Amino acid sequence: MIRIEDYSPIVGQATIDELFLLAQRLQGNEIQNINSTAVGGGVAEILTRMIPLLTQLGVRSRWDVIKGDEKFFSITKKFHNGLHGVPVEVSHEEYDTFIEVNRLNVGMLSFADIVFVHDPQPVALVEERKNIGRRWIWRCHIDFSKPNERIWSFLQQFIEQYDTAVFSAPAFARKLAIPQVLISPSIDPLSDKNKDLPDDLINSIFSRFGIDRTRPVITQISRFDYLKDPLGVIKAYKIAKRHVDVQLVLAGGGATDDPEGPTIMQQVQEEAAKDKDVFVLFLPPSSDIEINALQRGSTVVLQKSLKEGFGLTVSEALWKARPTIASAVGGIPLQIAHKYSGILTHSIEGTAYWIKQLVNEPEYARKLGVNGKEHIKNNFLITRHIKDYLLLFISLFRRNDIEYL
Ligand code: UDP
Repeated sequence: MIRIEDYSPIVGQATIDELFLLAQRLQGNEIQNINSTAVGGGVAEILTRMIPLLTQLGVRSRWDVIKGDEKFFSITKKFHNGLHGVPVEVSHEEYDTFIEVNRLNVGMLSFADIVFVHDPQPVALVEERKNIGRRWIWRCHIDFSKPNERIWSFLQQFIEQYDTAVFSAPAFARKLAIPQVLISPSIDPLSDKNKDLPDDLINSIFSRFGIDRTRPVITQISRFDYLKDPLGVIKAYKIAKRHVDVQLVLAGGGATDDPEGPTIMQQVQEEAAKDKDVFVLFLPPSSDIEINALQRGSTVVLQKSLKEGFGLTVSEALWKARPTIASAVGGIPLQIAHKYSGILTHSIEGTAYWIKQLVNEPEYARKLGVNGKEHIKNNFLITRHIKDYLLLFISLFRRNDIEYL
């Protein structure tokens, strides 16, 4: 088991001491996280890592996952796409089903002192707060820069019943009647996904997948989701391939709250079928070591999203000092300063151009990776994230009940 003290050599003992001090202020309170999937995607990734650490700090924490059927998750996926600017139509009946499933979940859950609800799927649980006097936080992990206004105003009626809303990047802040705070997500440097790996293991994982490490490898790790633009990645690769002899790896799995994964994966497989240098890898949950090795062993890592909440995969790649090319969307520009700690792009052609450049200029690419790692170390590790959350939890009591502390 990883101990909180194990982070001291990376972030310094003062940071760990500070976490213990803050955690003391929350003694006696229990934090309950609620989201809609236990595996797949960034939210599950963060909660899996964070809850044991909060517990070690003495903050009682738990994590519940709401239940929903296929219909519910197809509605919430519509919300997700619509909030990201994809044209969708949501019917009255679908809005009603959304509320109904949230109400059914209220009956199945017991609520803790601080209810920390992640993303839109469980947002309407907050209706329950009129019956119990808890503190409620809504944590938004998605890109809210240009949401579908109809879906946004539907959600807003619930969001404004919370004490506070948390967003990942300044561009997502909305006009709201409640306080909002900005907290970026983070990666765990000691997890299987991010810890150091011996070169032998990286080599053996590459050869298991049939990828040739003697030639450049360009990799994108992502759920097979339209907004991650895997087809755009293939197009960029094909343009770059006219100039440099690269291989492409598109690796990822699904999430239980994302019903569109298999369709997108099939489209990607069809597009990749004729090229033996394109590897489309379906990764089951618990492929953390494989993801780690693929990121570490790649010449360049891509994250060519069309929209992105934060894009943990960018921090993961940079932490491994990998030269990274990513779209300038959502939280990605927080992680990459263009031409200093990575490359930000806006198009398929731009992505292709930079693939070619970085493959042809390994020393420049190496420096981007080194700078990227430093930036992630200073800003996007889990200890900073825990500190921000502890301060947020404490602030809930400070605002309404100063006696409490
Ligand atoms: N991930 C994974 N398996 C996969 C695809 C992605 O474990 O098959 C991880 C990835 O390494 C990252 C997270 O899921 O930790 C994705 O987070 P991100 O913020 O990049 O995107 P999201 O999926 O939340 O939109």
